[in-house]
Amino acid sequence: MGMVAPKEYGGRGLSYVTAALAVKELGKTYASLAMDIAAHNALAVGQINMFGTDEQKQKYLPRLTSGEWIGAWGLTEPNAGSDTGGIETKAEAHGDHWQVNGMKHFITTGRVADLVIVIATTGRTETGKNEISAFIMMKDQVEGVRKIHTYGMRASETSELRFTNSKAEILGERGKAGLHKVLSRWDSRGADEVSGDHKRRSLDVWDVARGVATGGTCFLHSALSGLTSQHRTRAGRCQVRQSFAAALVCAV
Ligand SMILES: Cc1cc2nc3c(=O)[nH]c(=O)nc-3n(C[C@H](O)[C@H](O)[C@H](O)COP(=O)(O)OP(=O)(O)OC[C@H]3O[C@@H](n4cnc5c(N)ncnc54)[C@H](O)[C@@H]3O)c2cc1C
Repeated sequence: MGMVAPKEYGGRGLSYVTAALAVKELGKTYASLAMDIAAHNALAVGQINMFGTDEQKQKYLPRLTSGEWIGAWGLTEPNAGSDTGGIETKAEAHGDHWQVNGMKHFITTGRVADLVIVIATTGRTETGKNEISAFIMMKDQVEGVRKIHTYGMRASETSELRFTNSKAEILGERGKAGLHKVLSRWDSRGADEVSGDHKRRSLDVWDVARGVATGGTCFLHSALSGLTSQHRTRAGRCQVRQSFAAALVCAV
């Protein structure tokens, strides 16, 4: 539960590459769990470890790395998926805390998590863009609207969440755990780890396609049945395209 966190906070101090390999192995037999573990490690633990103050690391990481708490990370919204700069969830300063209003969806373990890292706007930058900050929000401030039914990964609680004047603590500095930072982490590390499982499923599709190429009997339908929404991640997409292309080639 604390693969990427330093040992002083109860973690294992592993590299993200090692963590990605662990998730990939887990994904071979239990894809939903692999996704939950990946989100907890790369997106919740990893973000606090990267952007949190020393005090926040002391306060939150040991409970996350020990597994006492589950962590989730909420960026995606109904109107902001790939276009992450367009998020509408807002946070306003209220004395010693922040108040958050908005919605998130597709949040892995969102409804069951003890702590959610919520990405919200905190104003405008000098260039007129959304200033984006990250917040630590505890479970009692999160309304779990519903579980979103996915084609696969059904044992994972993919959730829709709502925040109404929800109390939160800013993670690190205002605007500093913002979009460019979050995405640089997501691109280089989180995505690698999360996509370990997606790659595994993509490889399954590839295996089906390869089976067809070597004389197997089931072809397009089997290949297509492996294509689920989670293949939309960049890392998965390339392999899916290859697999899909191979299946099509075999079908004709
Ligand atoms: C199982 C699952 C778990 C998830 N867990 C989390 C989580 O824990 N936390 C979190 O914050 N989010 C999570 N997500 C959300 C995920 O990050 C988003 O689904 C992803 O960012 C894409 O957003 P979207 O679904 O709104 O698709 P869209 O952004 O609407 O994209 C739809 C399609 O259009 C394409 N597209 C979009 N924009 C362009 C463009 N400009 N040019 C060309 N093509 C484009 C995309 O590649 C995609 O194929 C999860 C999603 C899934 C399916």
